[in-house]
Amino acid sequence: MTPPVRTLGEFVAEDKIIDWLAGEIGQNHRASAAGAAAVAKRHSLPMHCSTCTATKACCASYVLIRLYEGLVIAHHLKQTGRDTQEQRDQLRARAEAMEAAVVADWATPCLFLDEQERCSVYSVRPTTCAQLYVYTPPEMCVARSSQIKSYTPRQEVESANAVEEAFRERLSLRRKVGRRYFGVLPRMVLVSLEAWDRTDFRDYLRQLSWPTDAEWTARIQR
Ligand code: SF4
Ligand code: SF4
Repeated sequence: MTPPVRTLGEFVAEDKIIDWLAGEIGQNHRASAAGAAAVAKRHSLPMHCSTCTATKACCASYVLIRLYEGLVIAHHLKQTGRDTQEQRDQLRARAEAMEAAVVADWATPCLFLDEQERCSVYSVRPTTCAQLYVYTPPEMCVARSSQIKSYTPRQEVESANAVEEAFRERLSLRRKVGRRYFGVLPRMVLVSLEAWDRTDFRDYLRQLSWPTDAEWTARIQR
């Protein structure tokens, strides 16, 4: 019998893709927190992020995420009634601005940072955000000092890359050989929202312009 044609939203709900991804993301968040705390303990370093009341300079930085992380944020926006045309317009404008910017010069508060300087998608924030822990005072973040000392999440990055591989398998997105389903935060959320109600979501996602590792490395160093 021919399998039913499903939209992305139906597919991820029925196959419990969001539950799986949210579990993996939560585990990655906890591993980063534990890893950063272990380094702090070993070297007697202060953990400033847990008590930081400064303007969140970290949330004004250039955030690159994997498509699967954007998909989970898109699901969260839908669940909380925040998938509006205005939201999509803002995501598109911000994505275009980030893609045209010099990465090192980018300093614009994230669309998901609320008026109280809190992340409005905190439980499903990207691993890039959750892996950031600094051992230097918040004032150095605000000043964008080159002397900031931060946690290096090697194992957690490998784990996130492994989830991306498994995600591509489960969504049958293998056609873009050598390219990663990776991009700026607002773009990854936007394409997930735009694919959500499409039955041809695989073709839609595959035909987008995805970077190779080398292209992203070159871009970040620009
Ligand atoms: S990275 Fe810097 S600005 Fe962000 S929460 Fe930590 S100390 Fe505060
Ligand atoms: S997603 Fe949340 S934690 Fe990440 S940059 Fe945006 S506001 Fe900050």
